Amino acid sequence: MITRKKIIAGNWKMNKTQAEARVLVEDLLRDIGRFDAAEIVLCPPFTALAAVSELLSTETNLRLGAQNLSEHASGAYTGEISAAMLKELYVRYVIIGHSERRHYQNENNALINRKIKAALAAEIKPIVCIGETLPEREASHWKKVLETQLTEGLAGFTEEQLADIVLAYEPIWAIGTGKTATPAQAEEAHQFIRQQVGKLFSAAASDRVRIQYGGSVKPENARELLTQPNIDGALVGGASLDGRGFTAIIKNACAE
Ligand code: PEP
Repeated sequence: MITRKKIIAGNWKMNKTQAEARVLVEDLLRDIGRFDAAEIVLCPPFTALAAVSELLSTETNLRLGAQNLSEHASGAYTGEISAAMLKELYVRYVIIGHSERRHYQNENNALINRKIKAALAAEIKPIVCIGETLPEREASHWKKVLETQLTEGLAGFTEEQLADIVLAYEPIWAIGTGKTATPAQAEEAHQFIRQQVGKLFSAAASDRVRIQYGGSVKPENARELLTQPNIDGALVGGASLDGRGFTAIIKNACAE
């Protein structure tokens, strides 16, 4: 069995001006700038990417991520941001298919698939979000939902491309609600996702793929969640906006 390095990403969503972003990143650089037990990714809004990128140009293990990108390379797409524009700012990761974008912007699996393609073409690693709603969980449809999101979202990619993709299991009922999946519920879903990746690609690919958990991760629950055998990191929303809280999540999750 291979070891999968943990990856913990902070999704700041539509929060932090450039000035606020600088304060948070300076705190993080001081507290976990050299931390290397996990890969750490900061995903500010587009408007703060340049400011954060500049701060991360010093020697640090913190990586820059974006929250979205266009499926198109360039052209008449008002308000959109291309992979090349992100690449120029040293963006290494991009969140694709977050449930808020699936819901508010009607992003579907086919579009998500094209966005993954655009990111990979620019050598930006996609963090691909999947997850079920509360009614889908209560009706025991969650496996079907995850299976469809994976099959359609990852259609056409090679095993080599999959090696650059991180998956994030984010049960929608646990995002921003303070309701966390129990470690057993999350582990069961992660195990299922890994099994599906095995069916779609290969046993080796399934063994290698990193799967983050997201949904109300906090300093108090990070360790129990991230020590489950199939949970390889976290995608943290609200709690990543506070330097101390985000640092505590990372340190608790990686404590020996
Ligand atoms: C998210 O938006 O990806 C997320 C997990 O949010 P929160 O941690 O606030 O639930």
